[in-house]
Amino acid sequence: MTTVNGGISFWYASTGIPAPREPLPGDAAADVCIVGGGFTGLWTAYYLKKSVPFLRITVLEQKFCGYGASGRNGGWLYNGIAGRDAYAKRHGLDAAVRLQQAMNETVDEVVRVTDEEGIDADVHKGGVLEVAYSPAQLARLKAFHEAEVAFGEKERVLLGAAEAAERIRVAGTVGATWTPHGARIHPVKLVQGLARAVEALGVVVHESTPVTEIRPKHAVTPYGTVRAPYVLRCTEGFTAALRGQRRVWLPMNSSMIATEPLPQAVWETIGWEGLETLGDMAHAYMYAQRTADGRIALGGRGVPYRFGSRTDNDGRTQQWTVEALREILVRFFPATAGVAIDHAWSGVLGVPRDWCATVTLDRSTGLGWAGGYVGSGVATANLAARTLRDLVRLDSGQDGPTELTELPWVGHRVRRWEPEPLRWLGVHGLYAAYRAADRRESTGRSAQTATLARLADRVSGRG
Ligand SMILES: Cc1cc2nc3c(=O)[nH]c(=O)nc-3n(C[C@H](O)[C@H](O)[C@H](O)COP(=O)(O)OP(=O)(O)OC[C@H]3O[C@@H](n4cnc5c(N)ncnc54)[C@H](O)[C@@H]3O)c2cc1C
Repeated sequence: MTTVNGGISFWYASTGIPAPREPLPGDAAADVCIVGGGFTGLWTAYYLKKSVPFLRITVLEQKFCGYGASGRNGGWLYNGIAGRDAYAKRHGLDAAVRLQQAMNETVDEVVRVTDEEGIDADVHKGGVLEVAYSPAQLARLKAFHEAEVAFGEKERVLLGAAEAAERIRVAGTVGATWTPHGARIHPVKLVQGLARAVEALGVVVHESTPVTEIRPKHAVTPYGTVRAPYVLRCTEGFTAALRGQRRVWLPMNSSMIATEPLPQAVWETIGWEGLETLGDMAHAYMYAQRTADGRIALGGRGVPYRFGSRTDNDGRTQQWTVEALREILVRFFPATAGVAIDHAWSGVLGVPRDWCATVTLDRSTGLGWAGGYVGSGVATANLAARTLRDLVRLDSGQDGPTELTELPWVGHRVRRWEPEPLRWLGVHGLYAAYRAADRRESTGRSAQTATLARLADRVSGRG
């Protein structure tokens, strides 16, 4: 029973790596140049081309579309957005409620377009179930539920242990919360389908084309420069490799494992017929889905960050991370103790210094960017893309402000991360504190969040 480690992700093992598209052949011109072929870049190309069909749009991708987090994630298409609470503090509750409502609608928008474009991405809208299994987690869960309702999520419900078990039988669950605003997806089927859809609309996509520098009206590559009035940076966890961007977004790792297809007898002990995406209330939280082919794909934080903002090449993850994730799997579902782990992999997320996602178009330079989604970019990338479309239309005089251009995350700026070694020490210290807090909470009786975790939140800029 060998575990494949890397190979980009399990999702590619199940679909195959796509045939490569041609690199940029030399200097070129476009109306909009998009750097990065993940969900953000491809959705942006999609919506721009749909709304202004004569626009010449070029996407430049360093490897192949869906090489980054978009082809490696947990497949939670859900309504969470990094930074909402901070935006509420800064812009008021009403602004944050509008942002949350836009996110709720985004889940349905992705499902709608996926359907309309005939992309079969194993989409199932079973909602999101988050469980608590210690008194401290339960207290956090209740506070979380209350906050979400206050932000306009009226459909969210709080479940007791028995009700939670009717959905998914996670060992030791003492309570849960469920929201309908979430769907399970197969990320690679979605990102590859989207790449084909934008090409069919007439967008030019060049792969194996790394952009080394972005300047106003220029995207520079080893094969030539694309000149365009608008250059949009959609490079998320890889942003630090671009000239001048090293300390903008920290590349944070997230790792996953996928089991072999589980026997029916094991599924009978677990339930999970509603195909909800599953998460918990730990500080170093886990996330999981039941795949269309009957596996559990489960992720969490392993080694959180590599010195000097380095990123991986092929999704290989550390052995101790694989073991830690397996330990969570078996703790949640004891019946999986004997099952094989077919695949393990990792990827990078983009984390801004204040942990707030943003979408921006600088009208004086024509440079735009979207990201910093931390761990929740699958749906957020779609909202960011529609917002970038509206910002480009606004700037080019084709349209006025829209509901999306007025959302509080638009145009947000934040200071850079500290230089090394402070950056490395800070992130490793943060996750060491979270893990220690999780251990303390899981053995303790107190309903109070461990002080260590509260302190870590405050110091890291998250709290
Ligand atoms: C293991 C893991 C699990 C996750 N689980 C979830 C989840 O379940 N739900 C959720 O909401 N979010 C999840 N996320 C986060 C989510 O996947 C991302 O936020 C989202 O995919 C970001 O999309 P993106 O297009 O902005 O970035 P990416 O998908 O990273 O795309 C960026 C693209 O830009 C390309 N690129 C980078 N630099 C250059 C350059 N210089 N020149 C040319 N091209 C370049 C890269 O090759 C890449 O293809 C997870 C992330 C990881 C890593």
